[in-house]
Amino acid sequence: MPIYEFQCEECGEVFEELVLRKDEEVECKKCKSKKIKKLVSKVAFKCDGRFSGGSKCSGCSGGSCSTCH
Ligand SMILES: [Zn+2]
Repeated sequence: MPIYEFQCEECGEVFEELVLRKDEEVECKKCKSKKIKKLVSKVAFKCDGRFSGGSKCSGCSGGSCSTCH
């Protein structure tokens, strides 16, 4: 499933949101503002458990698998 990264223009909060529809309205998790900008069109997929070495796998968007489960 597509997970996009957004940043709130009001408070600067960065969060990830699962977007099912293109026109879905996203609001800040922190201050509920609708002034949200989408960060780099990165699409993160769930970690499939394959490790590329160390403690993170190639499917992880964060520093470790714990951030993508
Ligand atoms: Zn905010």
